[in-house]
Amino acid sequence: MTSIARIPDRLRFDEATPSPRPLVDGFRRRITYLRLSVTDRCDLRCAYCMPERMTFLPRREVLSLEELSELSTAFIARGVTKLRITGGEPLVRRDISDLFTALGRRIGDGLEELTLTTNATRLADHADTLAKAGVRRVNVSLDTLDRDRFAALTRRDALPQVLEGIAAAREAGLRVKLNTVALKGVNEDELRDLIAWAHGERHEVTLIEVMPLGDIEEERLDQYLPLDIVRKRLAKDWTLADSDHSSGGPASFVDIAETGGRLGFIAPHTNNFCANCNRLRVTATGQLYPCLGGGERVDLRAALRSNDPRGQLAEALDAAMIIKPERHHFRMDERGAAPALARHMSTTGG
Ligand code: SAM
Ligand code: SF4
Repeated sequence: MTSIARIPDRLRFDEATPSPRPLVDGFRRRITYLRLSVTDRCDLRCAYCMPERMTFLPRREVLSLEELSELSTAFIARGVTKLRITGGEPLVRRDISDLFTALGRRIGDGLEELTLTTNATRLADHADTLAKAGVRRVNVSLDTLDRDRFAALTRRDALPQVLEGIAAAREAGLRVKLNTVALKGVNEDELRDLIAWAHGERHEVTLIEVMPLGDIEEERLDQYLPLDIVRKRLAKDWTLADSDHSSGGPASFVDIAETGGRLGFIAPHTNNFCANCNRLRVTATGQLYPCLGGGERVDLRAALRSNDPRGQLAEALDAAMIIKPERHHFRMDERGAAPALARHMSTTGG
């Protein structure tokens, strides 16, 4: 029996959720996608994400696996069909496979897709369990294929484990999509080769612009590489054709004739993508952030741990629909500026 099987009755939402209304925000956007962070901890220290000496949350503040499972069930009851587990690094959380197994039981029963974002350092250990739980694809963050560069960027010498993890995922039948943050002076000279390698391995790739989230030890503006510049550079060597493919998210896509693969661009600074936003984010402490780029939040942990978790949670989700802003207001043009938001990406999970 897994730990998730022992859920107290007061936390069971599945049969009689009091408010099964779909989640629709004030701008008539229907919410169907939840990114759920299961930990703020991580075994890497990517320089654009967190400082070397990161302060992590005390464990008691983090939702238990049971609470995470029940929270997910409550969202599914309100129309969430896609669930992405994220972090920090989700695979560093003890017994995480129990959560995947429990959530996997909801696939076909309200939930259409269960997936995760991972740095892949521990993916080799988990790939089979994930596949058995019903996960079909994983997003792996990989910014360089050069071992020394990887060690400098993530402050850990872990590229071999990451590549082993990606290979294991494929072996287990999982599709792998790579997310690569484009970083000025760090990997910009390598992006073409990284994409060529990935497409050769039949992995999709999405490039991401760095976002001003949380204090790090470096100047953000020094890291920022606008993706329109990257696209122009790639177009010198390759034939890029705009694709009408959509992942239902913020990325726009091109097909590359020479590699036969697809490339995504997530460019919050050069392209505003909020009009079709269908997602919410919940941190490992149960704070619901309706916008990655905003400070608005609703405390779901207080609702979950109250005397009336079902009612309080229904109210909290309704409140989130009211406060979800129309768009983010990231800016990347001010040297020395404080981060747009104090929380790190490892808090909300990207
Ligand atoms: N640890 C996992 C990983 O790296 O895939 C999941 C969490 S990580 C915070 C999720 C994504 O956020 C990763 O693809 C990472 O590259 C990206 N990320 C982190 N900080 C960022 C920032 N400041 N700007 C843009 N992307 C960022
Ligand atoms: Fe960890 Fe992911 Fe942040 Fe890198 S990007 S430090 S792997 S949470």
